[in-house]
Amino acid sequence: MRIILLGPPGAGKGTQSERIVARYGIPQLSTGDMLRAAVAAGTPVGLQAKAVMESGGLVSDAIVVGIVADRIEEADAKNGFILDGFPRTVEQAKALDAMLSEKGIALDSVVEFVVDENALVGRIAKRAEETAARGQPVRKDDTPEVFKTRLDAYRRQTAPLSDYYAGTGLLQTIDGMKPVDAVSQDLVALLDRHTAAAS
Ligand code: AMP
Repeated sequence: MRIILLGPPGAGKGTQSERIVARYGIPQLSTGDMLRAAVAAGTPVGLQAKAVMESGGLVSDAIVVGIVADRIEEADAKNGFILDGFPRTVEQAKALDAMLSEKGIALDSVVEFVVDENALVGRIAKRAEETAARGQPVRKDDTPEVFKTRLDAYRRQTAPLSDYYAGTGLLQTIDGMKPVDAVSQDLVALLDRHTAAAS
């Protein structure tokens, strides 16, 4: 199964991806995680991405598309993947379409988490607090100021993807404001229906 989770920062894409990885036996491909790893390792990609990530803007399509193209070639992604945080622009979506069609494979579903954007700043603050309480480093972009820029980037550059995928017939939505367990149940129900229909 090849799926995309769509939704603004803080909508719960990462949390829900982690929860369904085991169920479907496919990896979570988070471009945010990959970029943070590149920054931490000081790779050329990391050096290019660092400042723009810290400011809350989007890393260039060329860099991110390159990372994803390499990652989906890896053995664990052969049978499918959950894309979390990618694509984030229509250009990236088109590049993904080209990548997949070249390999003769297709996306199964695009699931958009519908959330109240006003609640997201609070969620991000909570995520930062919980991370600090676990003694882990807090993301530099999980501050209210940078979060506003991230949300703005989402509205301008990523939200158009809803229409893009609605046009392909792949888009489905779930209520991301429900409690975490309820969102997981809805997501699994939706994906299981899809798997049943496909088989
Ligand atoms: P995330 O962990 O998905 O919230 O991503 C953190 C940051 O990484 C974003 O604010 C962007 O700066 C960068 N990033 C992650 N995924 C992408 C992407 N698909 N395109 C451009 N920038 C990205």
